[in-house]
Amino acid sequence: MTTVDLPLLPLGPGRDLSAERGVECPGDLPPASDPGLVARARAAKEALGDRVFVLGHHYQRDEVIEFADVTGDSFKLAKDAAARPQAEYIVFCGVHFMAESADILTGAAQQVVLPDLAAGCSMADMARLAQVEDAWEALAEAGVADAVVPITYMNSSADIKAFCGRHGGAVCTSSNAEVALEWAYEQLPDVEGGAKVLFLPDQHLGRNTAVLQLGLSLDDCVVWDPRQPNGGLTAEQLRDAKMILWKGHCSVHGRFSAEVVDELRATIPGVQVLVHPECTHEVVTRADLVGSTEFIIKTIEAAPAGSSWAIGTELNLVKRLAAAHPDKRIVFLDKTVCYCSTMNRIDLPHLVWALESLVAGTVVNRIEVDPETERWAKLALQRMLDLPGRSSRD
Ligand code: SF4
Repeated sequence: MTTVDLPLLPLGPGRDLSAERGVECPGDLPPASDPGLVARARAAKEALGDRVFVLGHHYQRDEVIEFADVTGDSFKLAKDAAARPQAEYIVFCGVHFMAESADILTGAAQQVVLPDLAAGCSMADMARLAQVEDAWEALAEAGVADAVVPITYMNSSADIKAFCGRHGGAVCTSSNAEVALEWAYEQLPDVEGGAKVLFLPDQHLGRNTAVLQLGLSLDDCVVWDPRQPNGGLTAEQLRDAKMILWKGHCSVHGRFSAEVVDELRATIPGVQVLVHPECTHEVVTRADLVGSTEFIIKTIEAAPAGSSWAIGTELNLVKRLAAAHPDKRIVFLDKTVCYCSTMNRIDLPHLVWALESLVAGTVVNRIEVDPETERWAKLALQRMLDLPGRSSRD
């Protein structure tokens, strides 16, 4: 077995030679107290004109969203970037794996910039390539690898997407996980007992989709723990499983609890609970509606005035929805403040620094996926794009 390093990298200043994350800005970062930051960001964007396209993920701070040309979830933003070939620079206000996907889907002449390289994703970091390759080897030793189709959530690094591409698998998003799993189970029709899925890296999205949308039982699912020998599973458990879930989770969506759902139902009459499928199975089974970030936004937009909602997703988005819909009661599904700390790394000083550097002719914090990884990751993404239709929870 290969020894792997600790997947979670420290944030903040410092140098991590084995990764781009956790490094200092090589330049002059304006102080957050600078009263001219808004004017500086505006001037830099104006100077760059159509040469720059700024993408803002829904979980970004308001101060950054203000300068986004488009907002959306990671997949929509990567597609928006690909539809803008005239933009030389794509400034991605989001996290590392999103900027990688944008680099994969955009043209060779387009350069993708992540304003703060410390903006990683703790979930994506929970599945490292060496760990996944070790798991695949163990599946082969247990005699099941030939029956396994790997599916990775969009929230994974480019090399994990490439792994799936190389092994006959695909990428999925939270809106099309159901069709992606259906597709996966239709592969390998000649395998005795049918295909199995290795789902990376979010166990909750995998379990919720398999059980609630495909009708599998909880007993059909096993959890592969990369820190345990053989994933903590016996060969028999692997042979019996239909769904092998990687032990990863989102540190934001994993915080919502069934107790708070029950408390809010008791205190807010008629409240409807709307959550993201990255939440735990316990929370999702107690919710009224479950869906992607785009689904959550559309549901609130279509909701009648006077309705009450408890929303289980990142706090920046919930606060923006509450501000945009004062005619509806919108509360956050957690008692404590719960931002995505890595998404929040992208602030106005970093955006100003990235834009002004581009104006000065210097591309900072470029995210570039190597050609071999890009080739296989693109194949896994293409298999997703070729999936029939889209989920009703789009
Ligand atoms: S919200 Fe969760 S999945 Fe999204 S970037 Fe933050 S840690 Fe990653």
